Amino acid sequence: MIKVEFAAGDNRWGQYETPLKQAFAARGLEVDLRQGHSPAEVDYIIYAPGSDLQDFAPYSATKAVLNLWAGVERIIGNDTLTMPLCRMVDPGLTTAMVEWVCGHSLRYHLDIDRCLGAQNRWDPHVPPLASQRPVTVLGLGELGRACAQALSHLGFPVSGWSRTKRSVENVTCYHGTEGLKSALENAEIVVLLLPDTKATENILNAQTLAYLPKGARVLNPGRGPLIDDQALLDALDSGQVAHATLDVFRVEPLPLGHPYWTHPHVTVTPHIAAETRPFTASDVIAENIQRGEAGEDFLHLVDRQTGY
Ligand code: NDP
Repeated sequence: MIKVEFAAGDNRWGQYETPLKQAFAARGLEVDLRQGHSPAEVDYIIYAPGSDLQDFAPYSATKAVLNLWAGVERIIGNDTLTMPLCRMVDPGLTTAMVEWVCGHSLRYHLDIDRCLGAQNRWDPHVPPLASQRPVTVLGLGELGRACAQALSHLGFPVSGWSRTKRSVENVTCYHGTEGLKSALENAEIVVLLLPDTKATENILNAQTLAYLPKGARVLNPGRGPLIDDQALLDALDSGQVAHATLDVFRVEPLPLGHPYWTHPHVTVTPHIAAETRPFTASDVIAENIQRGEAGEDFLHLVDRQTGY
C-alpha cells in the first residue's frame, strides 16, 4: 500500500479527495491517501503553499513532494525539503492560462474598453488586424509556449524569450540577457510567464520598460516580483505603458491602498489567471507516483540550481 500524505490544506481536501482516489484507481495504484499519516511512513507528499507542513525532516522515507502549484518559489528555499520536488504541469491549468492571456490580449487588441465607453455615440474605430500587433511572451515554458502558440493561431506575430535557447513553431525566439532587448523592442503587448527566481526579479524595470514601443500593454499572470512596481507606475504615468493587467503581486491579497487598485490604467485580477484543476491535476499526480513506484524519473522535477 502506497502511503500518500495530503498536505495541501483542509480546504482543498474536499476538492481533491475524490479525483485523486479515482486517478489512483484508474492507474491500478493501491494508495492510502489521507491527512495525518505518521511522517516516517509516508511515500509521497501532495503539497500546496499555505499548508501547515513546514518541516519535511521527519518524512525520512518520502520519495517525492508533489506540488499542486506550478510556481515553487514558496517552497524551494525550505532546507528541510531534501527529497525530489515536482511542480504542477496540469492541462487544465494550461488551458485556463491560455484563455486568460488570449482574452486580455484581445481586450487590448480590439480596444474593447473604448467600445464599452462609447455606448452613447457613433465612434467608428477600426482596430488593425492581429497580424499588425506584435506580442511578446517572456518565458517559453509549459505555460508561455502554450500561450505563444495560441496567440500565434489568433494571427499575432509572436516573439518569446527564455533562459536557454528554445524553438517554438511560428514564434520568433530569443534567449538570455542579450536577447531581452530584441524580444521587447517591438512588443505592443508583453506577457510575463516567468518563474519567480533571483534571476527574474524586476525583469521589467525602468530600463527594460523603456525598450518597449511607447503605449505598450503589459499582462502579468506570472509572479509579482517580476515587475519593479514603481518603474511600472512611472511608465504608466508617462504613457510609456498604456495599460497593465496584473494578476499577481508581491503581497497577496494586494493591500488596500496600493496604487494599483486606483490607477486608471491598471486592471487588477486576484490571482485567478489559472488555477490547478483537481480532475486533470490528479492524473498528473497519479502518473508521477506510478513512475516513482516503477523506478522511473519523475516528471516536472524542479531544478534547485535554477530555482524553477
Ligand atoms: P516553466 O518552468 O515551464 O517555464 C519557465 C520559463 O521561464 C522557461 O521558458 C524558462 O526558460 C524561462 N526562464 C526562467 N528563468 C529565466 C531567466 N532568468 N531568463 C529568461 N527566461 C527564464 O514554468 P510554467 O510555464 O509552467 O509557469 C511559469 C510561471 O507562471 C510559474 O512559475 C508561475 O509563477 C506562473 N503561474 C501563474 C499562475 C496564475 O494563476 N497567475 C498559475 C500558474 C503558474 P528555459 O525554457 O530556458 O528553461
